[in-house]
Amino acid sequence: MDETVRLRCVRRTYGTGAGAVTALDDVTIGFAAGTFTAIMGPSGSGKSSLLQCAAGLDRPDSGSVVVAGVELTGLSEKRLTLLRRESIGFVFQTFNLLPMLTAAQNVALPARLAGRRPDRAAIARALAEMGLAGRERHRPSELSGGQQQRVAIARALVTRPAVVFADEPTGALDSGASRDVLAKLRDLVDTQRQTIIMVTHDPVAAAHADRVVFLADGRLVGELTAPTAETVAARMTRLELAAC
Ligand code: ADP
Ligand code: MG
Repeated sequence: MDETVRLRCVRRTYGTGAGAVTALDDVTIGFAAGTFTAIMGPSGSGKSSLLQCAAGLDRPDSGSVVVAGVELTGLSEKRLTLLRRESIGFVFQTFNLLPMLTAAQNVALPARLAGRRPDRAAIARALAEMGLAGRERHRPSELSGGQQQRVAIARALVTRPAVVFADEPTGALDSGASRDVLAKLRDLVDTQRQTIIMVTHDPVAAAHADRVVFLADGRLVGELTAPTAETVAARMTRLELAAC
């Protein structure tokens, strides 16, 4: 199968000695191109650590991470930054937009930071895909939370990355805005074969994915394909009970 992201035997430990915490304990998993995966698990189970290692924002202690055919472990910081810029989009729970910039300027920022001329047509297209045509000149304070998150997704998409990672992208949104954001993410997968990997604790959000993988104590403990909110919620309840 054509996999955009593959982790093999990934370990990540924070701290040393008696206080050491194993956030990822020998994780092996692949993410097929053009699919939408949700990652779930109790708080502290390693979801964010998995996303950060897979996105080249953090380095595992051991194991292998391959994104778009490139082995990330062992790359210099410079090469890793270049690869992240070209091939990886990241969406945060808190949007991380700059308040003094317009929507279009926020989407253009990664290109500017890379010393390149922003591609106006690509920026307009990414914003339009997120339902934000006509909002290009609005500043974040003039947009709703859901619109701000859609600007952040446009920013992640503008380079047409091989994979978009999202860590709790609906965690700061009300249910209506969450639905809009999730529908847009689903659309990207269905119409453009965008590969998306999303951490969430919301079974309704996870039900938008093709597959849900469950983590507990830094290990993969199961998965569901064609998830529904009900099947996801039932599995999460079992995991949370087991963690007590
Ligand atoms: P999740 O996103 O599932 O809540 P995390 O990946 O954030 O879990 O964390 C997994 C474990 O690693 C937790 O026990 C957490 O406290 C620990 N951890 C995460 N980041 C750090 C860090 N920077 N320093 C120390 N411990 C950390
Ligand atoms: Mg987290």
